[in-house]
Amino acid sequence: MPTDRAFAAHATIDLTALRHNLEIFRHARPGCPVMAMVKANAYGHGLIPVAHALHDVDSLAVARLSEASVLRDAGVRQPLVLLEGVFTAAEWQQAVALDCEIVIHTEEQLALMRAARTQPRVVWVKVNSGMNRLGFAPEGFAEVVSAVRSVSSDIEIRLMSHFADADREDSDLSARQLERLEPILEHWTGAVSLENSPACLTRLAQDLLKRAPRQIWLRPGIGLYGAASLVGNDADSESRLRAAMTFKARIIAVQMLSPGERVGYGGRFVADREMRIGVVAAGYGDGYPRMMPDGAPVLVDGAESQIVGRVSMDMLTVDLTSRPSSGFGSEVILWGRTPSAHRLAAEIGTIGYELVTRVSDRVDRIYLGELPPAGQVR
Ligand SMILES: *Cc1c(COP(=O)(O)O)cnc(C)c1O
Repeated sequence: MPTDRAFAAHATIDLTALRHNLEIFRHARPGCPVMAMVKANAYGHGLIPVAHALHDVDSLAVARLSEASVLRDAGVRQPLVLLEGVFTAAEWQQAVALDCEIVIHTEEQLALMRAARTQPRVVWVKVNSGMNRLGFAPEGFAEVVSAVRSVSSDIEIRLMSHFADADREDSDLSARQLERLEPILEHWTGAVSLENSPACLTRLAQDLLKRAPRQIWLRPGIGLYGAASLVGNDADSESRLRAAMTFKARIIAVQMLSPGERVGYGGRFVADREMRIGVVAAGYGDGYPRMMPDGAPVLVDGAESQIVGRVSMDMLTVDLTSRPSSGFGSEVILWGRTPSAHRLAAEIGTIGYELVTRVSDRVDRIYLGELPPAGQVR
């Protein structure tokens, strides 16, 4: 009999998959330091356990100061990068006190820096090469660099930019972004970071970056968690990215339906024959999307089945008609290796990133695989 906890939606996080995926990135780009993305609770996988499992990456990147603070409180001593920088003088001071590397992408942040009494060891200058989200125009890069140098010559300055369309091969948009970066990279010999997961695997910027000797930082996120199907990851199965998260729950009740009977809110699903329905203890309150249509795949006791009826807050319903041996207590895999988060995300027009990131707080994360001994955590 399964335990109480194992009935409700829970996520197992395979830390060995995370390590395996990290090695794939290291292998794809030998010698490049890795800045691992752990923002948004490590894409829903759990900030602190993931940070510990990635104890030997060169830095960890977060979006919010609060995330950096949680990592420091947990004893993480690796370099931390604040991807959006900070927005007030108090935050600047806090970020420096937490020994963060700070991204600056606006004049306002430059002004905060000039006014501050303490400075970080590393500043990443973000260049807007065409995504038009964060960053200084490429033409302004040299000026920003001299502005930072005039504040303090002790600060190491690095360049960061981000691709808008890296998950598409032969993208015109990526080509244009590379073109816009080219004039800077002709002269700049400092460290540079351009590539997210798909860009790392397709070596999107490698030709441009390799024209001069410099330190090239990789910025993998989703690929570490194995929650996307990425271009450039078409090797044999041993060297493929593995899904770290398996989102699952158990069947807590079974219903028998006659033809014409309906299931769930609004009666969206109508039985067209005698049917057996399993009620699963997972719903949108756990992060399983309410928009999931009838027919979306799940695994019941390892065999493929489908969602029938609207997803509720705490429950969803699956077809057990052709699974007579499954019933109360059966394990249902909502996503994991199969169906993958990105396969399921496609059912509702989103991406695997959103599914794994939105797994809610009440869902227990159960970690599989060895964490490094405490002494190894930097
Ligand atoms: C989140 C993020 C990444 C990682 O992107 P993935 O597609 O998850 O690999 C890289 N760079 C920046 C600036 C990001 O915000």
